[in-house]
Amino acid sequence: MAQAEDLVPHLPERIAGLGIIASNLWWSWNREARRLFRDIDDILWHQTRHNAVEFLQRADPARLVECAGNAQLVTRYERALAELRHALTREGTWFRARYPEQARATIAYFCAEFGLHNSVPIYSGGLGVLAGDHCKACSDLGVPLVGVGLLYQLGYFDQRIRPDGWQESSDDPINPATVPIVPVLDPSGSPYLVEILTGGRTLHVGAWRLHAGSIPIYLLDTNLEKNHPEDRTVSQRLYSGGPEMRLRQEWVLGVGGVRLLRRLDISVGAWHANEGHATFMLIERLREHIAQGASFADAVNRVRNVSIFTTHTPVAAGHDVFSRDQIQACAGPLWESMGMPREQFFRLGRSPGGDPGQFHMTAAAIRLSGYANGVSSLHGEETRRIWQGLWPKRDASNVPIRHVTNGVHLATWMANPVMELLDAHLGPDWGSCLDDPTSWDRVLTIDEAALWNVHLGLKQRLLGYIREDARRRWRSQEHEPGQLVSGGILLGMGALTIGFARRFATYKRADLMFRDPDRLRRLLVNPRRPVQLIFAGKAHPADEQGKRVLQRVFSFARDPSFEGRVAFLEDHEMHLEHRLVQSVDLWLNVPRVPMEASGTSGMKAAINGVPQLGTLDGWWAEGFTGWNGWAIPRSPADRADELDAGHLYTLLEGEIVPMFFDRDDRGVPLNWVERMRQAMREAGQRFTARSMVQRYVREYYLPILGGEEPPGDPPDG
Ligand SMILES: *Cc1c(COP(=O)(O)O)cnc(C)c1O
Repeated sequence: MAQAEDLVPHLPERIAGLGIIASNLWWSWNREARRLFRDIDDILWHQTRHNAVEFLQRADPARLVECAGNAQLVTRYERALAELRHALTREGTWFRARYPEQARATIAYFCAEFGLHNSVPIYSGGLGVLAGDHCKACSDLGVPLVGVGLLYQLGYFDQRIRPDGWQESSDDPINPATVPIVPVLDPSGSPYLVEILTGGRTLHVGAWRLHAGSIPIYLLDTNLEKNHPEDRTVSQRLYSGGPEMRLRQEWVLGVGGVRLLRRLDISVGAWHANEGHATFMLIERLREHIAQGASFADAVNRVRNVSIFTTHTPVAAGHDVFSRDQIQACAGPLWESMGMPREQFFRLGRSPGGDPGQFHMTAAAIRLSGYANGVSSLHGEETRRIWQGLWPKRDASNVPIRHVTNGVHLATWMANPVMELLDAHLGPDWGSCLDDPTSWDRVLTIDEAALWNVHLGLKQRLLGYIREDARRRWRSQEHEPGQLVSGGILLGMGALTIGFARRFATYKRADLMFRDPDRLRRLLVNPRRPVQLIFAGKAHPADEQGKRVLQRVFSFARDPSFEGRVAFLEDHEMHLEHRLVQSVDLWLNVPRVPMEASGTSGMKAAINGVPQLGTLDGWWAEGFTGWNGWAIPRSPADRADELDAGHLYTLLEGEIVPMFFDRDDRGVPLNWVERMRQAMREAGQRFTARSMVQRYVREYYLPILGGEEPPGDPPDG
């Protein structure tokens, strides 16, 4: 089978294993490995946006030879390689130590997007990054998980903003030669692994494999020669095209994914559908059981007993729904192959109180999963309320849907200088005490000036990054002068810097701050206590309203009366996200309650000591303690925008800005730094991917692998 390290050209003997390191995304959350690449050539490292494969391909051979002769660097390289090899064995991990009897189990995790690293652009936002963080935490903990997704060769779209603020999309196709993925071939070397029927034709599906530490992720691909030209484009781009295209992608993901795992002889003990895009994984297994002779009821039970479904959507309108005709056009008369009447099949996807002509992916997933959960406490509640109709004899509080609050992968999102600070204050082995909540209490004793200085260093780095990016765009004549200002070149170190970076879905209200532009302007351009705002994010290409919100924010970034204190950074992805969450002073998160299932960017900021200002939605409804940031109280839904904006200004004017500028004689804002420490402690204790995955293991994966009956009765509505 092809090996990912073959992607990397010949390297000097002494450091040849760098190719092995670069070909497993494990390097991206290993400090030592990250530092190796940077030390080899920091300019090229920056230019390749931390793409380790491309970096080694482009590195100067003479420099590599020089590095191979540097004893200190070679020692560190050897340590990193040994650590990677050890990680692949899963020896000594949390899961192995506690559940040795499950060492040979496999949990399959299906998701339409995976956000593992910016060099593999097959994600659009929070859902994908969460899936990526889930896999990384599984690798750290030794949880035997296998990911299944799609390889979108055109990725998600790249964003350009016209001078008038309108978002345009462009494509930057993935070049598989610079991404640590390898084609999966059958023993005869053929890329045609499985077949599925769609649109009355046979569709051949191939796959690529990627490694996040010990976790393999299989990415399905329909761009194979034998396929009909139309079918080749099915896996081309994430979340694009109309509902028919989306349905086909989900069909490939679910059915193709199950067949691929069978083909590879991977014996799966627990099946996790992450969001309704993966529902066909459950349906395909239902079909398998029926084909093997099970009755419908028995097949449903068997699928339910070993399946978990996680929903991420808090509003009814946000779920995937397809018409019967669309389903039939994509999947054919699939009920026939399942030996059931058409009506019975469509009853699986009926949403209580909804249009009976529609197949509801979430309803079907809940019916076919013995375990279902939302992704924050509030979202769990909302989900029980939305789906109460599936259990008409129960009231909402007794609906058997629970929650596991999302978390973020610490080693991915915490900046190196913050980790070094923790080394110095908590001891170099703090990373191995993460499960002890009291170890996080010691964050509260970190010296104020030390933490503040680390933060200032990161802020400086962000402003440098923004300036260099502007320089590049100026040189390549991508931007006219006004766009340099909107791109942030007038941002300064002294101002309180507020960050907002997420998809421009309208419920996230990127423009809430601008509701009263005059009041905002007074806040921003105050020469003694200046405030600046940095925005980034993509609107879905079909979301005209989202694009209008973006345009409105952009117009303030260009408005001279705001003196360059509002910036919009183009093309938000994980690389930019890192820089922002690690470096701004305050994170802003103002979704319209209760539309944000969880939200994770604020957690990433918090582990770097960046407090959040937000509405009490998603994770913040349970994460806000009164000390780790600021909260906008809940307002009646019909006046939420007006009241929330009012609270936002009042908090900034009355409390946040004064606290930020209240300095001791060393220039340290003591009260502010206390909030920073509290933010870190709270997020470290309660909102890491590590503790999230431990909960999935204890509450879902283990009961399933142990053959327990699901706790709740099946839906009867
Ligand atoms: C973490 C992350 C998000 C999630 O943002 P929220 O709005 O806080 O959920 C979106 N996009 C990218 C690139 C991310 O890294």
